[in-house]
Amino acid sequence: MPTLPTHLFLNGRYADDLARRRTPLINPATEAVFTEVAAAEPADVETAVSAAQKAWESGWRDLSPGKRTEILFNVARKLREHIEELAQLEMLQIGKPIADARDEAGLGARVFEFYAGAITKFGGQTLPVSRGGFDFTLRQSMGVVAAIVPWNFPFPIACWKVAPALAAGNCVVLKPASLSPLTALKLGELAHAAGLPPGVLQVLPGSGAAVGDALVTHPRIRKVSFTGSTEVGRRIMELAARDLKRISLELGGKSPNIVFADADWQRAADSSPMSVFANTGQDCCARSRVFVERSIFEPFVERFVQATRALKVGDPAQEETQLGPLVSAGQRASVEEYLTDARQRGSRFACGGSRPLPKGWFLEPTVLLDVDKKDRCWREEIFGPVVALTPFDDEATLLQEVNDSPYGLSGSVWTQNLSRALRVARAVESGVLSINSHSSVHVEAPFGGFKQSGLGRDLGMAAMEGYTELKNVYVAE
Ligand code: NAD
Repeated sequence: MPTLPTHLFLNGRYADDLARRRTPLINPATEAVFTEVAAAEPADVETAVSAAQKAWESGWRDLSPGKRTEILFNVARKLREHIEELAQLEMLQIGKPIADARDEAGLGARVFEFYAGAITKFGGQTLPVSRGGFDFTLRQSMGVVAAIVPWNFPFPIACWKVAPALAAGNCVVLKPASLSPLTALKLGELAHAAGLPPGVLQVLPGSGAAVGDALVTHPRIRKVSFTGSTEVGRRIMELAARDLKRISLELGGKSPNIVFADADWQRAADSSPMSVFANTGQDCCARSRVFVERSIFEPFVERFVQATRALKVGDPAQEETQLGPLVSAGQRASVEEYLTDARQRGSRFACGGSRPLPKGWFLEPTVLLDVDKKDRCWREEIFGPVVALTPFDDEATLLQEVNDSPYGLSGSVWTQNLSRALRVARAVESGVLSINSHSSVHVEAPFGGFKQSGLGRDLGMAAMEGYTELKNVYVAE
């Protein structure tokens, strides 16, 4: 087992006082408590924000772009040296299959590389203002940013927020979810070992209600960058409104997967199960509503179910495992409530629906048919391994049904007709869309949602813009 970080990471070191309240961590694959991690309290928010403000004013804000680039590349290198350790920690705390956990640790390092390189390519403009003279814009850092992240992709999402915020010259207080503090703490430790000055990145595990609220309402926090549920996002927006804090919100989803009869539908059917069941369905981009053109609906379902049955569910430590357990007993109970609802409402279970193993919070990937479009399973984000498939007849009705959702995060369109692909891609109300693919996340491209899936963007240069204020300076001739 790797060494477990169990203390808050404050001002460049672990705060190892033992008097603090601690949260037990449970391995979702075994249901065994394997460690306890210190839980931050509102007073720690004050300590962290003061240290961050000091670090920003006394150096980080004014560090040369070249030096900041060098430090962030060093952080990326350090993360790459520790990929196995980061992957093991992620697997232990949330049951993520080890192969996925390694990929995601590598993704985190890549995010740091991208933003290290972006620092010297990101700036303002000169503008030909009508009164003459000289006018230019500056992209300025904000100060202290709070990054609040969920438990489903704890390490990469922390990197999506921390790396561009630091690259833009801010200091960050990072709050991981209570279920997944380990890789966030390790990020703080490794970043400082790579040369990040004390106070520039601090990590406060703790409950959302206590630490999250204290961070969001702290007057020195200039921006809150949040990924999590739509419900908590709404609360953060309300709290942030009091002093008009900048916010970005990456929230829930109920994404469509649209398959036209002219597509390479066999490839779509083979690949679609993992577009919803990856991470055991605990994925904001999960394509959980599958729309298939009626003429191919039956063979598509047959092939989709076959591919689902072939998925390897089990011990996340095994290289070949594709689906680990759900993150907690509560998460599985919540998914099972949806399945009970589906049974009561007369949906058909093409496969799945049961617990495959006696120990651990596992659940079979479940394929539902005949789900009424008013039912909870069709409308709500289940956040577990459950998908519903439905046939469609024409493009206009399809688009109406696809967009009849409060969410708009991601989606896929499968067709070989280029005009149709572009027409549908434009019409689907979502921030991210893939054609003949299920790939949603590219470090270089903006990621985020329409409607109640959020506002603002992670990744790409859009994220860096979001961590700056735009100033205009006019110089008279
Ligand atoms: P959550 O909203 O319960 O928690 C997210 C984070 O917010 C955690 O760190 C939590 O401790 C904190 N938090 C809770 N209450 C808070 C409060 N009052 N003030 C401030 N912070 C608070 O979400 P979760 O269960 O960890 O993650 C699952 C959700 O995240 C799903 O809805 C999923 O769709 C969403 N998600 C979205 C994206 C995206 O990019 N759009 C990515 C991953 C997950």
